[in-house]
Amino acid sequence: MSLAEETIITPKWVMTLESEELLVGHSVIIGKDVILAILPNEQALKTYPNAKHIFLPQQMLMPGFVNCHGHAAMNLFKGLADDLPLMTWLEEHIWPAEGQWVNEQFVADGTKLAISEMLLSGTTCFSDMYFFPEVVAEVSASMNMRAICYGPILNFPTPYGSGPDEYFDKILAAHDKFKHQPLIDIGFGPHAPYTVSDEPLKKVRMLSDQLKMPIQIHLHETEFEVSDALEKTGKRPSQRLDDLNFWGPDVQAVHVTQLNQQDIDIFKKAGTHVIHCPESNLKLASGFCPTHELQTAQINVALGTDGAASNNDLDMLSEMHSAALIAKAVSKDASALPALEAVKMATINGAIALGKEDQIGSIKVGKQADLISIDFSDISCAPMYDPISQLVYSASRHQVDHVWVAGHLQVKNKTLCHVDTAQLMEMAQEWADKISSKT
Ligand SMILES: [Zn+2]
Repeated sequence: MSLAEETIITPKWVMTLESEELLVGHSVIIGKDVILAILPNEQALKTYPNAKHIFLPQQMLMPGFVNCHGHAAMNLFKGLADDLPLMTWLEEHIWPAEGQWVNEQFVADGTKLAISEMLLSGTTCFSDMYFFPEVVAEVSASMNMRAICYGPILNFPTPYGSGPDEYFDKILAAHDKFKHQPLIDIGFGPHAPYTVSDEPLKKVRMLSDQLKMPIQIHLHETEFEVSDALEKTGKRPSQRLDDLNFWGPDVQAVHVTQLNQQDIDIFKKAGTHVIHCPESNLKLASGFCPTHELQTAQINVALGTDGAASNNDLDMLSEMHSAALIAKAVSKDASALPALEAVKMATINGAIALGKEDQIGSIKVGKQADLISIDFSDISCAPMYDPISQLVYSASRHQVDHVWVAGHLQVKNKTLCHVDTAQLMEMAQEWADKISSKT
């Protein structure tokens, strides 16, 4: 590695998440794509005399956010249908709009818009469940964004294919195509227990075991989902999937607003992770994920924004804020989900849920240089007692000022380095004009 590839980053604080303490007077040195060292400032300059040097005197350097659940391309439907319950929103608005508009170009454009928004707000890795995962992967790789792309499995035809057989073929082809791309993973995204029957779910488990591909599924999103399943099958969806041996440590169950002791036992035994999407659950009035109960049972909980059409932003800072507040309200315990735990949910817990904790989620020598800096020279964060408290309870995404993915500088001084934002917004408006004129 040439010396020119090394960069010393010297912030005011470093939050490594490897310990509870913030480091002061320390620099993080990054190489081409990894974290090379964490050293006291003077020693960093002596050890790496020829490195580039970035001073961030009012900033905190921390691991990038890991957004564990979303549907990036749905960014193009943001604001199309609001203020509706889940099933009305899905059946009367989103599914018809998807049937009419979703194609490869839509997914490419929507994903590009979403990645741009995520980078600007400090997300350095996202997990996506949407049609044409190979397009999501292609756009992510071309933008140097880390992504886990879950190809959808549903019982019925969609713009992506005629049914499960075609979905499996396409997802396996995508897996093959991207297996050597270090920033991209392809997984299976069976949509939900109520849209996927037993046979495809068993096939997902079998293929995942063979190929080591991760799985993500929406589960227990609403009370109706559980009561309807109980009426039709006599089993809670979690139980039905357990009987199929579906659960495992490679599965992420998204939402889980309905939870009983049996569910806890199932997740715990299997090592399954829960992805909490607090703002989507609030907006669709889906319910509340009891994160406190899950964490007390030592089940890993990570955070996701869900798609922008049900949020309506991809802002992990506000998601942390909402998660911390909801946990207190739901458990009637103000000490539930303290600030540092909320930060972990948005970073290292996400890395664990996605099976990537060896690579990302904390600042540690040898891990990937997925880093962000938060500018605390903002009136919203004055005075400063505790940067972690300010991060969760006071800061906003506009204070994210530098972002690196795999050592690659993506955002500099709050501006995207490699995206023409004017052109991007023009493209998004062209889609909105087309969609609103014919929907
Ligand atoms: Zn979702």
